[in-house]
Amino acid sequence: MYTDADVARRTEELVEASRDVLGDQVAFRGAQYDAGLAMVHCPEGHGGLGGNRGQQAIVDDILRANGVTYEDLRINPIGIGMGAPTVLAYGSEDLKAKHLRRIFTGEDIWCQLFSEPTHGSDVAGIPSRAVRDGDEWVVNGQKVWTTLAHVADFGMLLVRTDPDVPKHKGLSYFVVDMHSPGVDVRPLYQMTGEAEFNEVFLTDVRIPDTNRLGAAGDGWRVATTTLMNERVALSGPPAPRGSGPIAELLELYGERAATLDEGARAVWRDRIAGLWIDAEVVRLTNVRAAQVAMGGVPGPEGSVAKLATAELGKRMNEAVLDLSGADGLLHEPGYAPTRASTWARTRSGRFLRSRAWTIEGGTSEIMRNILGERVLGLPGDVRPDKDIPWSQIPK
Ligand SMILES: Cc1cc2nc3c(=O)[nH]c(=O)nc-3n(C[C@H](O)[C@H](O)[C@H](O)COP(=O)(O)OP(=O)(O)OC[C@H]3O[C@@H](n4cnc5c(N)ncnc54)[C@H](O)[C@@H]3O)c2cc1C
Repeated sequence: MYTDADVARRTEELVEASRDVLGDQVAFRGAQYDAGLAMVHCPEGHGGLGGNRGQQAIVDDILRANGVTYEDLRINPIGIGMGAPTVLAYGSEDLKAKHLRRIFTGEDIWCQLFSEPTHGSDVAGIPSRAVRDGDEWVVNGQKVWTTLAHVADFGMLLVRTDPDVPKHKGLSYFVVDMHSPGVDVRPLYQMTGEAEFNEVFLTDVRIPDTNRLGAAGDGWRVATTTLMNERVALSGPPAPRGSGPIAELLELYGERAATLDEGARAVWRDRIAGLWIDAEVVRLTNVRAAQVAMGGVPGPEGSVAKLATAELGKRMNEAVLDLSGADGLLHEPGYAPTRASTWARTRSGRFLRSRAWTIEGGTSEIMRNILGERVLGLPGDVRPDKDIPWSQIPK
């Protein structure tokens, strides 16, 4: 068992030994993985030291103090936030050895192939099929809203392998090579002007059985691990008090206050104070979710944090745009719609993108269902199709 002091010492040794590659994402992060400092809570040999998630903060603080720039969110958010924990929980040793290090360095980009045109919230009802053929599975179907599929090397694929059992029981989960024949990725253009997610058509795509995560028919359980990690990833790490969008709003108020009359200033002060308090409550909720998640697989706390973060984010961006007035609609010079996330550079881009926060990774209504059922113990949602074979559900 490594103490906090051991973790700190190992991190300082890593920095010393890698001085000349600190700014090189692949080389440095490869060395970080090999030193067990990539995901400290993971087992030794798989990027970790078998420690706890809290010890990662020790590593991150030392690296940041030494000028190591993290590009995780820009480069491989889905691989790091969702792919790695799922491979770690359900992958064979071969899959772990093949994927975990390359996910962490960003050499392989990952995407999540769950949602389909007919099934998003009710993803357990998806119709895309995989049929076994010897040592392989042959997949046909369509996915949609697949973030980063246009640059992805691997995807987490949920498909139906047995249509004659209830919907949650006939799913299987695979790692699919996005460069396989039959994978056709087409961009979807968003209201932010970008196209960072896609529809993905799968036609006779062959996947080796060795790429399966979990047992055939047990894909729902594996998918749940991915989704729980997604919600923690989407709610983000706990930020310092008063930082982030609320800091921007306060700064903007400082700039604009002189242009407002006394009545408007009083209304804005009231609105900002309310948002500040909500931001602090959400921050503390995220701290609690992160602490619970330290113990292992994240639970419903991640869904609560995701719900609160997304809804507050929407209100915060509305306030920023309201206070900006017409200026808030302007794009900064140099803004160009591209297939990369540039929305964050403009106020209007952030406002438009924040609408998606309450949809991606499970809508706010679904998060409220989870909160109601799993935290408050309220009666469950109505699910008339839960126990009948999927093939008999009216389509
Ligand atoms: C920016 C963005 C990125 C995304 N990236 C990915 C990705 O990388 N991979 C991927 O697989 N998917 C991705 N998605 C898809 C996302 O997971 C789905 O959009 C989401 O789960 C909702 O599904 P849906 O769009 O089919 O809406 P629907 O499920 O059709 O829902 C429509 C409305 O009905 C409500 N509703 C549905 N069921 C219930 C219920 N039981 N109780 C109460 N209300 C209900 C919903 O809340 C919603 O308001 C992304 C979505 C967005 C917006």
